[in-house]
Amino acid sequence: MTVLVLMEGNEASLQTLTLARKFGEPLRAVHMEAVQPFAPDAIAAIMAMVADDLDVSSVFAAGTDRGNDVMARLAARTGLPFAANCIAAEPGDPVTVVRQRWGGSLLEDALLRAHRALITVPPYALRETDGPAPIDVDVKPYLTRIEPADLQVQVAGHVAAAGGGVSLAEAKVVVSGGRGVGSKEGFAIIEELAGLLGGAVGCSRVVTSAGWRPHSDQVGQTGTKIAPDLYIACGISGATQHMAGCKGAKRILAINADAEAPIMQNADYAVVGDLKEIVPAISAEIRKLK
Ligand SMILES: Cc1cc2nc3c(=O)[nH]c(=O)nc-3n(C[C@H](O)[C@H](O)[C@H](O)COP(=O)(O)OP(=O)(O)OC[C@H]3O[C@@H](n4cnc5c(N)ncnc54)[C@H](O)[C@@H]3O)c2cc1C
Repeated sequence: MTVLVLMEGNEASLQTLTLARKFGEPLRAVHMEAVQPFAPDAIAAIMAMVADDLDVSSVFAAGTDRGNDVMARLAARTGLPFAANCIAAEPGDPVTVVRQRWGGSLLEDALLRAHRALITVPPYALRETDGPAPIDVDVKPYLTRIEPADLQVQVAGHVAAAGGGVSLAEAKVVVSGGRGVGSKEGFAIIEELAGLLGGAVGCSRVVTSAGWRPHSDQVGQTGTKIAPDLYIACGISGATQHMAGCKGAKRILAINADAEAPIMQNADYAVVGDLKEIVPAISAEIRKLK
């Protein structure tokens, strides 16, 4: 049976297809960019109409902020069950899913009983796989059927992230600082190392709570979830809620004064010592190599 996918033009959408393909074919796609600026109710309205017209068995989206936003609204307007952040799913009656809870620290088995399942897939939990690409739905006829009320919530403008540069979510290298950095000014050495590596600066929640960095820099359960090639965690203890945001990293280098800090359990490389000495020393070595 036909499967509908909401595509966002990012890697997470391609990873979502891995699960969506298990639910049948053809795959049909509605693109998030169909409504500009982003208006989640309007996209949900289009998804609802397309799902009915094509009589789809299931609807998939990436479990990004926007993907989950649209799908929650779609569930609310259709009364269909919605399982967010599923890392596995099997079609059937009922549909079975395994979904991440508590920022990925817990996995839950769940059953969806409905003629149409709504499912999102968390970014970087699954690999992209080869398979038939989804066929775009012509959304023009649906755009004319959007109600004014569906445009009440929409993006009014964009504010560039402080410092600009590489985005935290997309960066191949992230250098993060925690309480151990000690102050707002202490982040100068973190910024320097991130700059030398062409990476982005991240931080723990203690840091955003203290006002040393903006919330947009926070990595974790209530911050950004990242999957860089290298994550350098400086003066971060490795609380579960922090690790929920960086466990997608291919390699973790922990720099910490405490050899017993929990992050050491998850680190591929560890340097035990004072980050105020170690971080500038790494930067100096990189400069020599350049
Ligand atoms: C509902 C909820 C959601 C949360 N969401 C998030 C989230 O999204 N992201 C997040 O980060 N946290 C989150 N937290 C908070 C989390 O539980 C921790 O409190 C927080 O991550 C700790 O931050 P930290 O590692 O910087 O500080 P600490 O735990 O205080 O660790 C500081 C570390 O720095 C080391 N250190 C100190 N001085 C130095 C030095 N000079 N050189 C080297 N190392 C040094 C210490 O050994 C220690 O390991 C959440 C908590 C809750 C309850």
